[in-house]
Amino acid sequence: KKLGIALVGLGGYAGGQLAPALQQTTNCYLAGIVTGTPSKADEWSKKYNIPEKNIYNYANFDSIKDNPAIDIVYIVLPVALHKEFTIRAAKAGKHVICEKPMALNAADCTEMIEACKKANRMLSIGYRLHFEPHNQEVMRLGQQKVLGKVTAIDTANGFVYGGDPNAWRLKKVLSGGGALMDMGVYSIQGSRYSVGKEPLYVTATEEKTKPDLFKDVDETIFWELEFPDGLKAKGRSSYNNNWGYLKVTAEKGNFELQPAFGYGGIHGSTSAGPMNFPQVNQQALQMDDFARCVINKKPTIVPGEEGRKDMLVIDAIYRSIASGKREKIG
Ligand code: NAD
Repeated sequence: KKLGIALVGLGGYAGGQLAPALQQTTNCYLAGIVTGTPSKADEWSKKYNIPEKNIYNYANFDSIKDNPAIDIVYIVLPVALHKEFTIRAAKAGKHVICEKPMALNAADCTEMIEACKKANRMLSIGYRLHFEPHNQEVMRLGQQKVLGKVTAIDTANGFVYGGDPNAWRLKKVLSGGGALMDMGVYSIQGSRYSVGKEPLYVTATEEKTKPDLFKDVDETIFWELEFPDGLKAKGRSSYNNNWGYLKVTAEKGNFELQPAFGYGGIHGSTSAGPMNFPQVNQQALQMDDFARCVINKKPTIVPGEEGRKDMLVIDAIYRSIASGKREKIG
């Protein structure tokens, strides 16, 4: 049986990436939608053949508990709503995938993890790059010390924000922060999966060149993570620079991805030459893997705890900017 997924929040990512990916999955399919906009409900139900009984709004969402056609709820809302809808979905007896960044802060992540545990439901974060072959190769090279111990990491992710100045991404109450939350999370993840270890300390600074546009959230942040054994990972996030790379230096060679974090067009190389891996539909592989984990009652490789670990780093980066000091992570 294919598991039924309901997407919650039919914005850019749900419509542009997840719904098309769900046309390519084998263990799950787009069974339902949750939206506050009736016109979107009509449009999606026609386009994806979704029956009326599987369409919910934010007010009647909890009655999804009575719908056996929905096995997994996928939260694709602004960050501030991730916690509420993850907890409501778990209480409705559904397994949950929640988009990145997992929540406004690590304390909220803990509540989400506990709610899912209590409801005996699985929780996963939309970390699609764990299913992308070039990124998987970085994990293998770094974590298995194929080119020796990793001695330095340099990573950056960002884009020049040209969107709506009133969008939720620029409102701290809805986003929790700016480019660090939205884009920096990939670089933090990338640093962590390049070594398979957790950073202990961070020092960070902020730069703002467009204070009117980014009055409420961070524009560009520079940080340095300190891992055990003296390894340092430099990172940058920005809403004012087109960045997207992950460069790892090891004792016997280097490896890097550039572009590193996109939906496609990932390019990787090592000091021996280019990596040679196919481009894949990351979202389809990610959702199929989670569905398989649910069916087989096996843990996911991208559980809520993974999202929480990145939020611990993000919390410490914001603390470091506020204090002007090196901060302990966790
Ligand atoms: P979006 O603005 O395009 O969509 C957000 C949706 O939430 C809209 O349909 C909007 O109507 C709805 N919504 C419900 N309540 C809202 C409220 N109070 N204020 C504003 N909108 C509200 O955003 P998006 O780019 O689709 O991002 C959604 C989530 O997906 C975010 O957590 C984002 O970080 C994540 N995302 C992940 C990836 C990835 O590659 N994994 C890519 C893009 C976005």
